[in-house]
Amino acid sequence: MVNIFRTLAESAPVPVCLHLDHSTSIDYCKKCADAGYTNIMIDASKQSYEENIRQTKEVVDYCHAIGGISVEGELGTVGGVEDQIKVAEDEAQLANPEQSVEFVERTGVDIFAPAIGTAHGVYKTKNPKIDFERMAVIHKMLNGNGIKTPLVVHGGTGLPDDYVTKLLAAGGAKFNVSTELKHTLLDAKWEYLSAHRDEYDPGKLDVFVRDATRKAVMHWMDKLGCEGKA
Ligand SMILES: [Zn+2]
Repeated sequence: MVNIFRTLAESAPVPVCLHLDHSTSIDYCKKCADAGYTNIMIDASKQSYEENIRQTKEVVDYCHAIGGISVEGELGTVGGVEDQIKVAEDEAQLANPEQSVEFVERTGVDIFAPAIGTAHGVYKTKNPKIDFERMAVIHKMLNGNGIKTPLVVHGGTGLPDDYVTKLLAAGGAKFNVSTELKHTLLDAKWEYLSAHRDEYDPGKLDVFVRDATRKAVMHWMDKLGCEGKA
């Protein structure tokens, strides 16, 4: 499977990584690194601060020794949409700016996901509470410290457009929108199959789903201003 996806990624006209998202297992991260993944996220954010650093650093050291693999770490709680408001209002669950700098320095992560109140899934409110200020402070502290560490926004699906603009201005460099892509994929399958009940050609279904997914990805690339930056 990795070989198939690496071949597809390498033949794309823009840089594409093979990303492992939110792995809580060091062994699984290492297995994927060995298999040829090019971007690995170790998510030890549920552990204590020190344990998070220890586990993240172990994965970073392993992947960097192999070479050609970037590693993402997370600090604070990026929960589900059920708890979004609760998490956003509880400072203790968000990434602390001083600790963020220490975390990046001690682990050596290439990209960093600070919890700022975003959540996985589809937001239950039109105006989710997001700590833009915290994002900007962390970005400034990290990049004013001689390190260049792009910041990741988890829970990008369903964020209002002006929130996305503000997060970009505050230093967001990678947006995760897997919920939207999952919805697109399944809705497209449903749409095609419902309209073609007598057709038994999986290839046509795949093409339809691929085109729908491509459209969704291109929409986000436009929104995030990726065009021409590869
Ligand atoms: Zn995530």
